[in-house]
Amino acid sequence: MSRRRQIYEGKAKVLFEGPEPGTLVQYFKDDATAFNNKKKGTITGKGVLNNRISEFIMLRLGEIGVPTHFVRRLNMREQLVREVEIVPIEVVVRNVAAGSISQRLGIAEGTPLPRSIVEYFYKNDDLGDPMVSEEHITAFGWATPPELDEIMSLSLRINDFLCGLFLGIGIKLIDFKLEFGRLYDEHDQMRIVLADEISPDNCRLWDAQTLEKMDKDRFRRGLGGEAEAYQEVARRLGILPESGPNDIKGPEAMQ
Ligand code: UDP
Repeated sequence: MSRRRQIYEGKAKVLFEGPEPGTLVQYFKDDATAFNNKKKGTITGKGVLNNRISEFIMLRLGEIGVPTHFVRRLNMREQLVREVEIVPIEVVVRNVAAGSISQRLGIAEGTPLPRSIVEYFYKNDDLGDPMVSEEHITAFGWATPPELDEIMSLSLRINDFLCGLFLGIGIKLIDFKLEFGRLYDEHDQMRIVLADEISPDNCRLWDAQTLEKMDKDRFRRGLGGEAEAYQEVARRLGILPESGPNDIKGPEAMQ
């Protein structure tokens, strides 16, 4: 895989020491897990597609002024990112009820929410990532109140931007999960930046016309066709790896 020193291995990615201090190499695997690791499998080609999809989204977010950890893609499965101190919170933004909110609150999947809802989960596999409130986050010092304000406002901006981006290619953004980190500059000034990845592994994406699932729910729910669904998301974004680095077309507008 690589001669570099491995820093961390997660479910879908491996982090290696980067070429310069303060950088890491993020390697995207084909491994897929669901239900807190109880279901395991592989989705052939997923790592290559998620590397591309996440690169594309992080770059577009960077262009609208959302700070991210992304530096550049290195190859088919790896990207260079800035080393950040991860805030141990998963931020979920929801536009339409699905998954855990549907179960928790008895809202039929597919019901539009009255407004976008932000939820927080404490990143802890042993506890199964429990849902927490802002009170827990600030009381236990996982993030300070100003950090949390910044995380909330960045999350809502990201949601607005991504809803439009996906709708333009005929995809509804149902919900997604974000992670943030603290990045320190040379004067020890801290900035909250978007970290991790944004891909069909951590978004719910439904075809706007057919409502067909184009994300990891295909794997979670054993629907099949997950590789094809991820490929279709990449194709609509205009970034299928087969097209080569010189013919990236950009998103194809859909009616
Ligand atoms: N999600 C994720 N990682 C997690 C939990 C959720 O990326 O550990 C994403 C998931 O893909 C979905 C959104 O966050 O897009 C909301 O997930 P939900 O809370 O409904 O949980 P799930 O039904 O996936 O257990």
